[in-house]
Amino acid sequence: MCPILSREHYFLQVINELNQHSVESGSLEERLRDMLLELAESVRDGKRLGMDTLHRLNKLFEQYQAIRLKVSLVPRAASLFAGETDEHTSDTGEEGQQLLLHSEFLDGPDQLRRKYMESIISLLEAMEKSTLALQTCVQCDRWFIPYRRAQVTKFCGSACRNRYHYERTKMGSRRLI
Ligand SMILES: [Zn+2]
Repeated sequence: MCPILSREHYFLQVINELNQHSVESGSLEERLRDMLLELAESVRDGKRLGMDTLHRLNKLFEQYQAIRLKVSLVPRAASLFAGETDEHTSDTGEEGQQLLLHSEFLDGPDQLRRKYMESIISLLEAMEKSTLALQTCVQCDRWFIPYRRAQVTKFCGSACRNRYHYERTKMGSRRLI
């Protein structure tokens, strides 16, 4: 049994709002943020993680233990196995409950160190699956996951692609004048 520790691809949301955060120089938050970027850049550039990075990552986990285990009873209706809910949906007795072992973060969702730690974890969980591709948009610098069919795309969406080509054309025509 291996509980999932983070929201899937949560790192994408956080990494694209890093420029709105202010972190103190030398703080834990700064080291977490830099680690998040370092990991994302290694995925984007197709580089393997070095022993040095792993060492620093484990040091961060040691310094900031962000997660604790928790066991709960949840209604069986919340089970992922939809077929099991047919007969017992109205049953609120013990049979209607299910044991759930999960993890939870100690800090609130608005704290930067929690955001960065959950981002790092969600990125590592995506990297574990080894199918992750990451890119930064040539036009707007946003991080995005390219569609499998279009690994070579340079833009996060058609709006940025159009904008990029529009500006190129404009520059080109200006040069002609
Ligand atoms: Zn873009």
